[in-house]
Amino acid sequence: MLPEEGSLWLLRLLRDIQLAQFYRPILEDLNVTRPEHFDFVRPEDLDGIGMGRPEGAVCRGELLGSGCFGVVHRGLWTLPSGQSVPVAIKSLRVGPAGPVGTEQGDFLREVSVMMNLEHPHVLRLHGLVLGQPLQMVMELAPLGSLHARLTAAAPTPPLPVALLCLFLRQLAGAMAYMGARGLVHRDLATRNLLLATPRTIKVADFGLVRPLRGARGRYVMGGPRPIPYAWCAPESLRHGAFSSASDVWMFGVTLWEMFSQGQEPWAGVPPYLILQRLEKDRARLPRPSLCSRALYALALRCWAPHPADRPGFSYLEGLLQEAWPPESRCMRDVAEPGALRMEPGDPITIIDGSPDSTTWKGQNGRTLKVGSFPASAVTLVDLGGSSATHSVHRDSPARGERLRGSLDGDRAKAKLQGLPPERGQRRTAPLQRTKGISKSLESVLSLGPRVTGGGSSPPELRHTRAVPQGPPTLPPHPPFVSSSSSQPSQLPRERPPWPKRESPHSHPIGKAGASKATVSPGGSLSDSELQRKILEVELCVHGVTYQECQAALRATGGDVVSAIQNLKVDQLFHLSSRSRADCRHILEHYQWDLSAASRYVLARP
Ligand code: AMP
Repeated sequence: MLPEEGSLWLLRLLRDIQLAQFYRPILEDLNVTRPEHFDFVRPEDLDGIGMGRPEGAVCRGELLGSGCFGVVHRGLWTLPSGQSVPVAIKSLRVGPAGPVGTEQGDFLREVSVMMNLEHPHVLRLHGLVLGQPLQMVMELAPLGSLHARLTAAAPTPPLPVALLCLFLRQLAGAMAYMGARGLVHRDLATRNLLLATPRTIKVADFGLVRPLRGARGRYVMGGPRPIPYAWCAPESLRHGAFSSASDVWMFGVTLWEMFSQGQEPWAGVPPYLILQRLEKDRARLPRPSLCSRALYALALRCWAPHPADRPGFSYLEGLLQEAWPPESRCMRDVAEPGALRMEPGDPITIIDGSPDSTTWKGQNGRTLKVGSFPASAVTLVDLGGSSATHSVHRDSPARGERLRGSLDGDRAKAKLQGLPPERGQRRTAPLQRTKGISKSLESVLSLGPRVTGGGSSPPELRHTRAVPQGPPTLPPHPPFVSSSSSQPSQLPRERPPWPKRESPHSHPIGKAGASKATVSPGGSLSDSELQRKILEVELCVHGVTYQECQAALRATGGDVVSAIQNLKVDQLFHLSSRSRADCRHILEHYQWDLSAASRYVLARP
C-alpha cells in the first residue's frame, strides 16, 4: 500500500531511524498524522503496536548551547531502577509552521548516523523522543566544546601542547572509524569537538554527515546548502565535492585552530576570496606559534591541492606519532631576561629545537607558558620511563623510537635535526588577522564561483548497527525511541528502557516556581535576570525554544507568568483550528495544563 501524501514525513522519519515497519500501525492505530500528535501517544499505545514500553523519564535542565537545528539542554534521564544518567538533549527548532524541511531532514539524518556509531571518541546517541519538537538524547559532554575551552579567557590556563596532540590522535582515530563506515563528516572543527573529560574529546554534530558514494568515494552536494567555508577543501568550495580526503583537509584546519588557541581560520578574508587564495595564490594558513615544524608539515600534507595526495586518517595516526613533540626535563633554574622561566624538574615540551641551535622553544608543563630557553638547560626524557614522565603524557603514544633518557640526548637531538623543513612556509602569504564575523556556515551560493555539483539528494543512510557495548553503568544501547507522552509507566522492563518527556508541570531539574517579575522603568532586564527568566519559562512550557521564550518575555515586559500563558495559548492555537481567545479559555478551564487542553482540542476538531 502506498503511503499517504500527508504522512510521508512519518515514513521518512521512521525509515531514518530504521523503524519503517511501524509506519502503518502508528498512522492507523495511533492516528498520528502530524509530529505533534506524538505528544499524545501514551506508552501503552506504543506497547500495543509492538514498539515496546517506554520507561524512565527525560527532563530538561539548563541551556548548553544552540546550533543549526535548535537548542541543546543539559538533561537527566532517570531509569526505572532510579539510576539517573546525565544527558544532553538536542531539540529541533520548530517555526510557526512546524519544523523547517531541510532542518528536520538533517536532524533525522544526524539521528540515523549517530545510532550506528560506537567509538570512544564519537558522541553517543542514547535515543530519540518523538513529538513536537523532536528531541535527541545524547551523551553529555560536560566540559562543552573544545573551541570554547581554547578561547576561554584568563585565568583559565591554555591547554598543554602535548594534550592538543593527544586530542589530534583521538580525532584521527574517530575519523578513521567514520571513514571506514563510508561516512564523510563535512563539518570538522573545534566547535564540533566536545570535551567529555579534560583529556577526552568526542566528535559531535553529525548533521552534515553524508555517505560516500561510487568508486571515487565522494559525496557531491545536490544544491546550495550552508557549508563551513573557511574549513573546506578547494574541491568542496569549487564543486561541492566531499570525501574522506576533504575531511582530512578539515582535520588540518582543526589542528591549526587548536594550536592558534581557537582563532578563526582565514579571518578577515572574504569568503569568495578563500578559494582564490587557496588555488591561485597557493596560500595556506600560517604556522601558529604553538605548532612545531613537524606538526605544521603534517598540516601542510593535509592541505595538498589534490585530494589523492593527502594522507588517509589511519596513516595520519602514524604521522602524528612521528610528529609528537619531544619531552624534556629542566636541569637548572632559568631566569634570564626574555627566556622561558623554569625550575629544576619542570617538564618542558619542546616545540622547536635542533642540535645546531643553542636556543630552543618549548612549553613549561608546570606554568604552561611558552618561550625560548637555552637548550643546555634541559635534558630529553624517556616517556616510557617512570620518574621522568609528566602526567600529561600518560596517554601519549607508545613509541618504539621514543627518546631514551638523558644518555640518549644525542640521538634525540639527531631526531630534532631531522625535522622536516618548513615546506610551504615560503608560499604562505601572511594573512590579515582581523576579527571578523564567523564564516563557519557560509552558503555556497554566496560565493562568486558557483557550485557545479550534479549529484542528487543523498539517499537515506542505512547501516548495520555496530554491536552495542555500553559500559555497565550506562543505559543499554541500542538507542531508545520514545513518544513524548507524559503518561507514567511503571511496569517491569522487558525491552531496553524508553524515556518519556517530563510533564510540563513537574520538572525535576531546576524546577522554579513561575514568578511575577518586574522590569526596570527603562523596560530592560539585566542579562542574568533575563537568562533566569528564560530558563523558567522554558522549563514550564513543553517544547519551546530559547528564542520563543525570549520573545514572549519581551512582549510581556518580563512577566514570567504571562509569558508562559501566552506561549501555551500559542501552542494550542497552532495545534487546533480554534481562535486564540478560545484556546485561552480552554487552557484556563484546564488550569493551564497544556497536555490536557491539547487532548481536549484534538478530540474535538
Ligand atoms: P550543535 O547543535 O550540535 O552544534 O550544538 C550546539 C552547542 O551545544 C555546542 O556548541 C555545545 O556547546 C552544546 N552541545 C551540543 N551537544 C552537546 C553535548 N552532547 N554535551 C554538551 N554540550 C553539547
